[in-house]
Amino acid sequence: MGFVLRAFSNGMDGVFIGGCRLNECNYVTHGNYHALNMVLLLKRIMEHIGLNPERLRIDFMSGAEASLFVEDVNGFVKKVKALGPLGEGEGIDRYELRSRLAEMSKLVPYFKLVNQEKLAFRLKTEEERDGLFTKEEIDRLFSEMVSYYIDPEKCQACMTCLRRCPAEAIVGGKNRIHVIDQDKCIKCGTCFEVCPPRFESVKKFSGEPVPPPIPEEKRTLVRKGKEKG
Ligand code: SF4
Ligand code: SF4
Repeated sequence: MGFVLRAFSNGMDGVFIGGCRLNECNYVTHGNYHALNMVLLLKRIMEHIGLNPERLRIDFMSGAEASLFVEDVNGFVKKVKALGPLGEGEGIDRYELRSRLAEMSKLVPYFKLVNQEKLAFRLKTEEERDGLFTKEEIDRLFSEMVSYYIDPEKCQACMTCLRRCPAEAIVGGKNRIHVIDQDKCIKCGTCFEVCPPRFESVKKFSGEPVPPPIPEEKRTLVRKGKEKG
């Protein structure tokens, strides 16, 4: 998913993914089903941000089907040419497009986490695949997007979340109340899971903005019993 978004961010007008025939994967993981489900999800996300989902295509063929590969790629190239340059064809300003793609790239781990069960499905029919991710579902995914916030009244600066955050999105230190940099946060939920239950400082918000972080000068932790007076 990240590779496809990176290709679009780098100015590609279309992305074609070729995979082995379904059910003919040599590995027990059957990664081609996973790739297919990723593409179905990504197409919905593209739709959501105003991009034509036909700019992304996945086809399956065996190594002996060179002519099918050529035919599919040629057909795809023709289609993408007809759609025009990425963004321009959809009437999206270049800078706006860049910002939407950057935002989606940042959210890839979140999309995968939220949809991990569906991404593992091995669907047999076109109908099943068409219904795997609906437009309504994707709209909901965005409207109910989660955010994480550290309650400054509860944080005990144990630094567990800071050490475990995979995106270096937590700002903190010894005796410093920790805060989440929302621009860097990829919404993986790790901080929520690892904050010790006796502190329960990380809050999860769904579909609503998080409170602003406490100002820098108020982040020194004053432990109980050490307060003046
Ligand atoms: S959810 Fe928490 S752990 Fe995950 S990226 Fe955001 S701040 Fe870091
Ligand atoms: S794990 Fe919880 S208590 Fe520890 S620094 Fe993070 S938010 Fe604060």
